Amino acid sequence: MADYKIAPSILSANFARLGEEVDNVLAAGADIVHFDVMDNHYVPNLTIGPLVCEALRKHGVKAEIDVHLMVKPVDRIIPDFAKAGASYITFHPEASEHIDRTIGLIRESGCKPGLVFNPATPLDVLEYTLDKLDMVLLMSVNPGFGGQKFIPYVLDKARKVRQMIEASGKAIRLEIDGVRQIAGSAILGAGKDSDTHRYDSVVKAMRDELAKVGK
Ligand code: ZN
Repeated sequence: MADYKIAPSILSANFARLGEEVDNVLAAGADIVHFDVMDNHYVPNLTIGPLVCEALRKHGVKAEIDVHLMVKPVDRIIPDFAKAGASYITFHPEASEHIDRTIGLIRESGCKPGLVFNPATPLDVLEYTLDKLDMVLLMSVNPGFGGQKFIPYVLDKARKVRQMIEASGKAIRLEIDGVRQIAGSAILGAGKDSDTHRYDSVVKAMRDELAKVGK
């Protein structure tokens, strides 16, 4: 049985009181803050940047912040997010001119690097990069568009990546994203009143679902 972590995307939060919302969802049992960065170029939407990450740290958020960069080009912004307090920084291989260099830049900046794969992006790159990564993030929907259905073949992809990780013998985290459209809006979106009890029950429901999926 794998150890599943709950990483709700802050995109579903009420941004007028983001600090409080993040406190509540962490208090309710979420493990990690998933920070979705969209640039209106790599994806057709615009979200949040390093200032917001820094503001969460200043607010007192101690949990790991997992910064998911849906931006192109990607290298320029990496040191800014490292300074702003990111724990993990993940990027899409097709958004980087030089994947190895971007991974190295994240590592040199003091963060843990990860790669993100869109549903139709093949995993080939992992053959040569897996040993340098701390996380693999699989998109269960195409990033940047709301209201999509979970793409089922992502589960097969997840199995494949898990096997590769096991074969590598390294402690690399596997995450499935798309949370905002499927489960994530269930978490942060559920707390419209910033009601910790509601977050509690949703985080618990998610853990129960994950337990059913098993390994
Ligand atoms: Zn994400």
